Amino acid sequence: MKTIIEPFRIKVVEPIKMTTPAEREAALQKAGMNLFLIPAEDVLIDLLTDSGTGAMSSEQWAGVMRADESYAGAKSYYRFEARMCELTGFEHILPTHQGRASERILFELVGGKGKVVPNNNHFDTTRANIEHSGAEAVDLVVDEGKDPRNRAPFKGNLDVTKLERFFEEVGADRVPLVMITVTNNSGGGQPVSLQNIREVKEVCRKYDKPLFLDACRFAENAYFIKLREKGQGDRSVTSIVREMFELADGATISAKKDGIVNIGGVLLLRDDELYRQARNLLILTEGFPTYGGLAGRDLEAMAQGFEEVLHEDYLAYRLRSTEYLGEKLLAMGIQIVEPPGGHAIYIDAKEFCPPLPPERFPGHALACALYRHGGIRTCEIGSVMFGKAATMELVRMAIPRRVYTQSHVDYVVEVVGEVFDRRRTLRGMRIVSEPATLRHFTASFEEI
Ligand SMILES: *Cc1c(COP(=O)(O)O)cnc(C)c1O
Repeated sequence: MKTIIEPFRIKVVEPIKMTTPAEREAALQKAGMNLFLIPAEDVLIDLLTDSGTGAMSSEQWAGVMRADESYAGAKSYYRFEARMCELTGFEHILPTHQGRASERILFELVGGKGKVVPNNNHFDTTRANIEHSGAEAVDLVVDEGKDPRNRAPFKGNLDVTKLERFFEEVGADRVPLVMITVTNNSGGGQPVSLQNIREVKEVCRKYDKPLFLDACRFAENAYFIKLREKGQGDRSVTSIVREMFELADGATISAKKDGIVNIGGVLLLRDDELYRQARNLLILTEGFPTYGGLAGRDLEAMAQGFEEVLHEDYLAYRLRSTEYLGEKLLAMGIQIVEPPGGHAIYIDAKEFCPPLPPERFPGHALACALYRHGGIRTCEIGSVMFGKAATMELVRMAIPRRVYTQSHVDYVVEVVGEVFDRRRTLRGMRIVSEPATLRHFTASFEEI
């Protein structure tokens, strides 16, 4: 059998609202042509993000009912802690309300003015937390990671030669830690090889620096390693995950991705002193260390989610369904970031909308067209988001976990194809009003 099916059946359904073209047009106008400002109810297929949008399993919901809501030492905390310890081998495990809370605590402790933190590509909240501490964030992804047409297997790798040069130029004193993001979200969801993590670890040993993982999509990354890396095909994903974490001295995790929960995060640490300091900060802003800003039911759901995400039939379905969307678009002549990443497909809007220059926001024009034509919500990652002419104008279609079926994906393919057929009629955009920072969330636009 070569058909890969959804490895679950549906027990609870959530109806989605069909809208007419006139209703979508009205919603777009009311939102100032900004998809973040459209009520989710008016969206048919929501591909804005894969963060916190996954569907929980019957076991996770059972855990929600079973949960212990005691303030200190709840049973749910111990279950969560045992699961994370089994998964990662870490001894010091702190729950947080989401990934950025882990980042904020970490960089308040190790960041600060004069410090510089390298990564393959910093995710935007990671960069913002590093910069907020006064430190600088530097991206050192391999060159093939910047070429959307290059089909290299591990385009998320951190360039070890660049890392060595970085240490020589910046000076080891200014580098508190080295970070690797798996998979590389800002670089198209591309994976990092085990070999690369080992080589980066060697450089860290040489300069006596800790290696941290931004491990939001650790399971998707491990499955890519199993599929693509020489000598890894016969290993279980569980053992690959374990080795990834054993190479690290700490990790920040948003459980809203591979934890398959709607809210939650984790901070993992090896160093005893750093752990003591982090725990104190956690109490200050998140909560007591056995709940970290979450309810007991969130900890139960996380403990279960971090177990289910390693099921290999789930991971096969997950990566294949993303790849399926990418293949269909490529077959219609639509350029995407290749090869397809784990959690999203990124359309190259510069190629899609040839007559539109960056100052007419081709990515944004395409994202609005996909909503107008088929009620699909996507996210521009280009000149609107970065606040200046961007190197790439992308439209990201992020796939929520276990939420949409293949016919939903086929519908998405059809909508993108029909918009592609009439791409010459897409109109450019102009910003009518914008805030001082992070303009993509609240700016309003008009067509010209
Ligand atoms: C989502 C994400 C974060 C931040 O996590 P939140 O839970 O949204 O705060 C950090 N790094 C990466 C790579 C992410 O994808």
